[in-house]
Amino acid sequence: MADAPAQPSVMEQIVSLCKRRGFVYPASEIYGGLNGFWDYGPLGVLLKNNIRDWWWRNMVECPPIGPDGHPVDIVGLDSAIIQHPKTWKASGHVESFNDPMVDCRETKGRYRADHVKVFVPKDGKGFSYAFVDDREAAEKKIKRDAKRNPVDYDEVILTTLPLDAYAKVVGPDTKSAGTLTEPRAFSLMLDTYPGPIRDENNKAYLRPETAQGIFLDFKNIVDTTRVKVPFGVAQVGKSFRNEVTPRNYIFRSREFEQMEMEFFCPPDEALKWYEFWRAERMKWWESLGVSKENLRFRDHDKDELAFYSKATVDIEYRYPFTAPDFGELEGVAHRGDYDLTQHSKHSGQKLDYFDQELQLKLKEQGASPEDVKAKSRYIPNVIEPASGLTRAVLVLLCEAYRNEKGRQGTEEYLSFKPQFAPIKLGIFPLVNKDGMPEVAEKLYLDLRKTFTCEYDPKQSIGKRYARMDEIGTPFCVTIDGETLKDQTVTIRERDSMKQERIAIDKVRAFVQEKLNG
Ligand code: ATP
Repeated sequence: MADAPAQPSVMEQIVSLCKRRGFVYPASEIYGGLNGFWDYGPLGVLLKNNIRDWWWRNMVECPPIGPDGHPVDIVGLDSAIIQHPKTWKASGHVESFNDPMVDCRETKGRYRADHVKVFVPKDGKGFSYAFVDDREAAEKKIKRDAKRNPVDYDEVILTTLPLDAYAKVVGPDTKSAGTLTEPRAFSLMLDTYPGPIRDENNKAYLRPETAQGIFLDFKNIVDTTRVKVPFGVAQVGKSFRNEVTPRNYIFRSREFEQMEMEFFCPPDEALKWYEFWRAERMKWWESLGVSKENLRFRDHDKDELAFYSKATVDIEYRYPFTAPDFGELEGVAHRGDYDLTQHSKHSGQKLDYFDQELQLKLKEQGASPEDVKAKSRYIPNVIEPASGLTRAVLVLLCEAYRNEKGRQGTEEYLSFKPQFAPIKLGIFPLVNKDGMPEVAEKLYLDLRKTFTCEYDPKQSIGKRYARMDEIGTPFCVTIDGETLKDQTVTIRERDSMKQERIAIDKVRAFVQEKLNG
């Protein structure tokens, strides 16, 4: 008997809905696409901007209240994508942004060595099976080839295996063992040559993170604005990494957007601020409507920490492709004074800070003049919450995706928190005649000044509701025969599909209240 066609995975369903409805398209699709690059369509860009604006609002415009009871000071920045090439020498990227890679001799596939996991037989007999994210495929191979169960295997990271064990490892995308090379360094930075001359001396890089532009402008910001340590500088923008295996849709791409904030503080306050930002950032993810059980902290072990870091934690999300495991969403790192010290050394510029308030305090406390001098000038420490904006889009899509068998209109829909939905309100005349379109269009022209609305006069009302559910629009308003008589409309809520009748002039307040909630 022929096998039943395989059911699409949740991720496949999300990818398909996002393509079908204009959230995300493969970049250059008419030319066959370009691996690791994506375009954010008409709805995707709205969703992305909503997340970006909420981050900016909570970082720059309304930053949280600090541990001392006062609002923390954070300013914004938009630095260039291409900076002086010395930047990346000073930051350590030229030397160490080289992840060890393994190649597959057979398929020519290339994988980041620390991302490759291997099922190794517990009894040491037979082959091992490697995979990158697709654990299910590896489990299938085990059942098919080895006629054993995955429970008979230990799961380890490839790099923990001795090199002579590679001969028995079946690669992630092949059926044969022994095709993986030993790990080799590979630079993740994309380079370019500004100006007319194309030689090594002219090589520059597309930034692999937004953070370094902030460190380069530290002195400018201190000299030209009224900020005083402790303060933060926030930036949102594109970053580029020549990821070897862009995978899992927009999770790991070669061009992506980051939201990063560097918080400069006195060295002896760094741990206090690290704890503060760690907690604040988790609260922020919850404020997007992401459920607590899909989020977790993962503290870096001592041996994972960069030599200059006293502590780093990842905020992780349970993506459909990692479940039941979690994957990174944001890192909060205590970076010590590493970055400013490095840039000071490489540029020859002083990047220390004179803390007048501390000087006064020390004097009041009766510290010796030498002590006052030594302690009131320092290189600030940095706490860095660094997250992916495009990864946040993926998280909201995964979190909002619903597939409910038998649901009226459409089984698939997106249950965004109203504040982040690309379109907040659909406005429909029940029929495209009898004076209804005129009233609906007038309402649309008025309400679109306050929030994103879509006016749609065509198709059956059921189809219009279904389309709005699919794109995650939380409310729809319908103008019908009653409206013409008594100035009331029906307003329908996406998740419950419940409808109520309210006065047409109350629609704005109704939606606004839900958005604020
Ligand atoms: P990973 O271990 O997933 O490669 P990372 O630890 O290298 O991430 P950071 O350098 O700390 O990542 O970057 C901060 C954030 O930027 C990450 O938490 C992630 O949200 C986002 N990010 C990093 N690389 C990519 C990428 N290739 N595509 C999309 N987002 C990314």
